[in-house]
Amino acid sequence: MKLFGTEFGGHIAIAQYADGAWTAPSIEPLAPLPMHPAAHVFHYASTCFEGFKAYRWKDGKGRIFRLHDHVARMRKSAASLCLPVPGADMLANMVIGAVHANLDAIPEPPASLYLRPTLIGTLENIGAAAAPSTKATLFVLTSPVGDYFAGGAAALKLLVEDQKARTTEQLGSTKTGGNYAAALGPTIAAKEKYGVDQVLFCPDGDVQETGAANFLLISDDEILTKSLDTTFLHGMTRDSILKLGAEMGYRISERPFTVDELLEKVATYEACLSGTAATLSPVGTLVYKGEEIRVRDGQPGPNRKKLQTALQNIQYGLEPDTHGWLTEVA
Ligand SMILES: *Cc1c(COP(=O)(O)O)cnc(C)c1O
Repeated sequence: MKLFGTEFGGHIAIAQYADGAWTAPSIEPLAPLPMHPAAHVFHYASTCFEGFKAYRWKDGKGRIFRLHDHVARMRKSAASLCLPVPGADMLANMVIGAVHANLDAIPEPPASLYLRPTLIGTLENIGAAAAPSTKATLFVLTSPVGDYFAGGAAALKLLVEDQKARTTEQLGSTKTGGNYAAALGPTIAAKEKYGVDQVLFCPDGDVQETGAANFLLISDDEILTKSLDTTFLHGMTRDSILKLGAEMGYRISERPFTVDELLEKVATYEACLSGTAATLSPVGTLVYKGEEIRVRDGQPGPNRKKLQTALQNIQYGLEPDTHGWLTEVA
């Protein structure tokens, strides 16, 4: 299997928006998109996307994880960028169509088909900096991905950044390209200076998230993570882990917490990043004010593994889906 995100399903689902209406979505062979150089997205970053997965079970059918929640999140992202908001049914059916068209290419779990619905503003007007794009293209790209932890779950090293924010408060919970552009510079600089894998953004000491994953502290009986607000992306993995964790007897604490509390807690709590690509990644080391701080003994912990397994068992069809999280594609 190639690197995550570099191999693609042979077909995409695609629809266009113009004159106040969407065209009927179609399934097309994967090919470059013809684009006008004045397209709104190139100049004013009118773009949002989603990222989630479909699995192929032993019965040969696909199962999409939390399809309707991802559709809802994408519609929120589109609205926050003043892009045409695709109908929930249309978008869900485009995703199902894209999974169906690429079903045979999905290897069995733990491999999966990563799904990347993308919406871009295509209005041909470089004078529209302060005007919404009234034309848009919506497509669902797919990418077969292998087991994220095929080489074992190595504990990550994070820089604790207590000044800079990942992005702006009004777009923090929008899955939009500009947010990653904003986090890129500080992340590359931290990699070079401290040899860290990621930056944990904690503006004014408020522990938020990294460039593309949520942050959780986990003990034998508690899961602590920041309560939902507009500063960070509301991850579906975070939400799923909190729901499963509650059922498994963990006390769920959703509240703001500071860098001071973080540094205290990591003596005994495990730290994890959560996101669709890796589910739960262990964090072994924090770098703060030039000093390295171990998270417990610096190794991946047992609670991360327990919660990750509970989530994956549902995704892989090894445990019943009591939450109605999976959509079957035959
Ligand atoms: C996508 C994303 C996440 C993780 O969300 P999931 O729904 O769990 O995949 C977290 N933070 C950011 C900034 C993201 O873009």
